[in-house]
Amino acid sequence: AVRTLATPAPAPVWKSEPEFTKIFINNEWRNSISGKTFPTFNPATGEKICDVQEGDKADVDAAVKAASSAFKRGSPWRRMDAAQRGRLLYKLADLMERDRVLLASLETLDNGKPYGVAYAADLPLSINTFRYYAGWADKNHGKTIPIAGDHFCYTRHEPVGVCGQIIPWNFPLLMQAWKLAPALAMGNTIVMKVAEQTPLTALHIASLLAEAGFPPGVVNIIPGYGPTAGQAISMHPDVAKVAFTGSTEVGHKVMMAAAQSNLKRVTLELGGKSPNIIFGDADMDAAVEQAHFGLFFNQGQCCAAGSRTFVEGKVYDEFVERSIARAKKRALGNPFDLNTEQGPQIDKDQMDKILSMIEAGKKDGARLVAGGKRFGDKGYFVEPTIFADVKDNMTIAQEEIFGPVMSILRFDGMDDLVEKANNTVYGLAAAVVTRDLDKALYVANNIRAGTVWVNCYDVFDAAAPFGGYKMSGLGRELGEYGLEAYTEVKT
Ligand code: NAD
Repeated sequence: AVRTLATPAPAPVWKSEPEFTKIFINNEWRNSISGKTFPTFNPATGEKICDVQEGDKADVDAAVKAASSAFKRGSPWRRMDAAQRGRLLYKLADLMERDRVLLASLETLDNGKPYGVAYAADLPLSINTFRYYAGWADKNHGKTIPIAGDHFCYTRHEPVGVCGQIIPWNFPLLMQAWKLAPALAMGNTIVMKVAEQTPLTALHIASLLAEAGFPPGVVNIIPGYGPTAGQAISMHPDVAKVAFTGSTEVGHKVMMAAAQSNLKRVTLELGGKSPNIIFGDADMDAAVEQAHFGLFFNQGQCCAAGSRTFVEGKVYDEFVERSIARAKKRALGNPFDLNTEQGPQIDKDQMDKILSMIEAGKKDGARLVAGGKRFGDKGYFVEPTIFADVKDNMTIAQEEIFGPVMSILRFDGMDDLVEKANNTVYGLAAAVVTRDLDKALYVANNIRAGTVWVNCYDVFDAAAPFGGYKMSGLGRELGEYGLEAYTEVKT
């Protein structure tokens, strides 16, 4: 599982009222131009945490102005040495480390994920992303190219300009880091819209960006809704690029808006229905735990969740039995309790959607063998749920559930295994569990997905590229490949 989980987390802390709840433009805190605010809730209790300023088109316009002026020729940001941009990113990472307990606490309060996980996984992964790209700031250089004739040819790697970034609620800090770090390393300026469900940690990071010394206007952060603030970013004529993570449905809209407006560059990280293939020769303890983790991690709210567990016939019954036992042991409850493995879903909408998918599974004839209901009557918890005997064409095998619902499919032999595993519009991730190298490589080579894990799941690293085939997305984030999205090549 997550290697860092062993780190003991200190007691959580937060101030009674979150400190940062406004729109961040030009390194200043502003109220919304419309005067509107929106509430953000604690999903473990359903109670309101606080109101946050609601950014809309007019605020996006102001933020784009600030970002454009920070990107102007001769501005402090444009004149800054690349190595100095790297130093600012290192400084930001150090400040995040200083505020690690507070950030992890706020993340749990606003998102509901277990505090032990926020502290031991979300925080270090986010901090590492900034450190990783800090190192790239002065290393993404061009080439000299031996073209024909008496000519000298070289390339320059230049920033794209004002980048719009729209992020989801499932990993608020980490998704923010994946977007900000490469964009800043390459010298771009940014207008970011954070998810309406989870604005609080992103705004704390805004304060750290100013404290680290990023010049005004380089990063602007807008809490607000998708159809208003999000749409304003993807339609904006002065935004040169938009990076989006979220649902495939909204991905279509972002790309359409880019096409309708100024053909801004588009990168998308969307949904998935990732196959996790368990062969009969696998170490059964490890396979059960890997599949459990691969699906239930983060309350099942992972774009890469292993949501189609394919199990070879000869171990199918044993695997199902042991997976039921493991799911029943999963500790649900107060996410601030260090023993909690699973917190609430993000909100009532998501909980209701998951419960309706469970109904669809039952109706389609899949065998419900664990869970299946809401847990408790406060907050938005869903029992760890398992369906066995799931068939390829069932709704729960085709549509993203984004919740703690495992679907187990049986396979016998290699014949049509790859075809079945590829039978989805998505192609984000996949995994294979086996001791047989031939099988591992055969599956890894033939699955149409951006990442294939072998005998592990959800191994993420800032150095390893991540992204989707097919309708799971466009472009890659992380690693050296992740620089491309934020670079224009000039010949
Ligand atoms: P969403 O796609 O609606 O929201 C993601 C982000 O996009 C948010 O910041 C949202 O405000 C913004 N957005 C919404 N409409 C927009 C628009 N028209 N233009 C621009 N931005 C817009 O996702 P959701 O409603 O929060 O969740 C719905 C489903 O999306 C989930 O059930 C899950 O399947 C999927 N999802 C995937 C990821 C992922 O990491 N790939 C993350 C969150 C949700």
